[in-house]
Amino acid sequence: GTMNPFQHGEVFVTDDGAETDLDIGHYERFSGISAKKSDNITTGQIYSDVLKKERKGKYLGKTVQVIPHVTDRIKEFIKSDIKNEDFVICEIGGTVGDIESLPFLEAIRQFSNDIGKKNTLFIHLTLVPYMRASDEIKTKPTQHSVKELRSIGIQPDIIICRSERNIPLEQRKKISLFCNVDIKNVIQTIDVKTIYEAPISFNNEKLDKQVLDYFKIKSKKSVNLNPWKKIIKIVLSPRKHVNIAIIGKYVNLKDAYKSLDEALVHGGIHNNLKVNLVRIESDNLKPTEIKKKLINVSGILIPGGFGKRGTEGKIAAIKYARINKIPFLGICFGMQMAIIEFARNVLNIKTASSSELNSKCTPVVGLIHEWKKDGKTIRGTNKDLGGTMRLGLYEAELLNNSLIKSIYKAKSIKERHRHRYEVNINFKKHFEKKGLIFSGNSPDKNLPEIIELKNHPWFIGVQFHPEFKSRPLSPHPLFSSFIKAA
Ligand code: GLN
Repeated sequence: GTMNPFQHGEVFVTDDGAETDLDIGHYERFSGISAKKSDNITTGQIYSDVLKKERKGKYLGKTVQVIPHVTDRIKEFIKSDIKNEDFVICEIGGTVGDIESLPFLEAIRQFSNDIGKKNTLFIHLTLVPYMRASDEIKTKPTQHSVKELRSIGIQPDIIICRSERNIPLEQRKKISLFCNVDIKNVIQTIDVKTIYEAPISFNNEKLDKQVLDYFKIKSKKSVNLNPWKKIIKIVLSPRKHVNIAIIGKYVNLKDAYKSLDEALVHGGIHNNLKVNLVRIESDNLKPTEIKKKLINVSGILIPGGFGKRGTEGKIAAIKYARINKIPFLGICFGMQMAIIEFARNVLNIKTASSSELNSKCTPVVGLIHEWKKDGKTIRGTNKDLGGTMRLGLYEAELLNNSLIKSIYKAKSIKERHRHRYEVNINFKKHFEKKGLIFSGNSPDKNLPEIIELKNHPWFIGVQFHPEFKSRPLSPHPLFSSFIKAA
């Protein structure tokens, strides 16, 4: 929960408020199923559970060891929260040979033994590099990683070979022979132009068939991949293009706003056009350069963020979007910055800011207890920073005749949150008098969830992260509408 996006990319948030790795977002986008806390675990959580159990004396004074205590906890986690599922897909991140992943690999080795080999299938993903200089495909890294895997007792049943180009039969045979895997189970996965081609590419390589054959399951009918084909067509040969600026602190790392990038692509799919993402580093954005840098964009988006660095650039860009009537979407920190911009430049409160950025400011954004004495804060203060924000799904009621209500076509919505600070409700009247309305609010009316501008074609700020719920087969209405406006 305290992780900087520069480390592993975005922190993905689930409905039930788990702060997870961005891989979980990919699973949600491809499967269409919302993930839960019970879908992701880290070494730290495993050890923390084992230590808690030890302190409670649950190991009856035995020596606590990686095997069996840590591995048992991992196996318990795999088995938890399973109802009538046909398959459990269990992904172990990292690379074979990493010290960190060893207990996990040992645990799945045991797991296969526990429930029987015919009920488990090991898929190993390897890299098959292409050497340009000698025009060769190299199978050695695959051979070595399989050797490493076998040394800890796991024989892969299927090897998925990631490659830049087609792997010739001769090399496949080599992998099959050296790695002790049926040639039909050496599956290549060649780089695709859009990630949404992956299901089709795996189907062409018969990965699904091989998995079913292994488990001796007869396929009832062939899988319908038409929805994915439609998506690819729009993504790869769009009718039109639209440029959207994302102004943030982590724009140099591609994965830092992964779900957001995807949600914008989905918005494009819905409108049958390609979204070009113009990533602008907020740190270097001088107010004098705003016009030059934003002249070719049709929409401006300020994503979530933390801390002071780069905020003045964001505020200047919001002012530009507001005055020039350019479609604007502010997400979480982006909405908070829009509130600050409006307070400073329209309400003329020059000291307006967020107490996250300046403890001596006029807190138009801050912690609830700063303006409400009995304010029950839903997040911890003066406690740990990790896992104590407002996390996961919260309800917002939408105002009649608002733009947001026409977009969602609903009275109330539930979206995923991840923030500590809130917009100060005490300034509501001042904002509304000048045309910035709070068009979505928590059911108890204490927390502004959505803001919009009356005299602007499309200017919306949301305290939550709609990008986490957008999927290629069901694009999020907020992004569809934003792209349409742009
Ligand atoms: N830093 C802000 C807060 O904690 C916004 C967080 C975010 O954008 N996710 O409230």
